[in-house]
Amino acid sequence: MKTKQKKTSQKREGKARECNDPNCPVHGSIRLRGRRFTGRVISDKMRRTVIVSWIRRAFVKKYERYEKRVSKVTAHNPDCIGAQKGDRVRIVETRPLSKTKHFVVKEVLGRETKKQTLKQEAIEQTKEEYEKPEEKQEEQAEEAKSKQQEAKKEKETREQDKKKSQEKTKETGTETNKEKNIKKGDKDK
Ligand SMILES: [Zn+2]
Repeated sequence: MKTKQKKTSQKREGKARECNDPNCPVHGSIRLRGRRFTGRVISDKMRRTVIVSWIRRAFVKKYERYEKRVSKVTAHNPDCIGAQKGDRVRIVETRPLSKTKHFVVKEVLGRETKKQTLKQEAIEQTKEEYEKPEEKQEEQAEEAKSKQQEAKKEKETREQDKKKSQEKTKETGTETNKEKNIKKGDKDK
């Protein structure tokens, strides 16, 4: 089986394709019935399976408005179709092919152009930039906190210094008193 898969993958690049997949909507014997959607492939990491997602509108009764909701579904992706991430695809419902898979990719409607990929990258970058300022704010808050702590410490040290100086003055005062007393004693003598 593995060698066959390798052969098919090698032939995927060529125009003539050999397809032994029974679940292929073109060459296989699978019956297509049910709902059909067009969506974008958001993941092609699984073998012969892709995740297709599309945006739909759902009415919110409370607000009498529509909200966007994202539908996400796994679909069988035969080697002869070979949909890749970013492709727009048409999928059709079939019998369950696995626990989560009951759709088949029928055709690739369009590949994502370079412009679109660049756009998406730009959007992601802007998102990151938007997310960064919050971090900066947090950092600033932390800095402010540390500054406050430093200020407190400085205050404390100042107060301690003041106390010390006051004590010194007191001591000197007592000394002067003693001296005065001595002087007084001298006078009494
Ligand atoms: Zn096929």
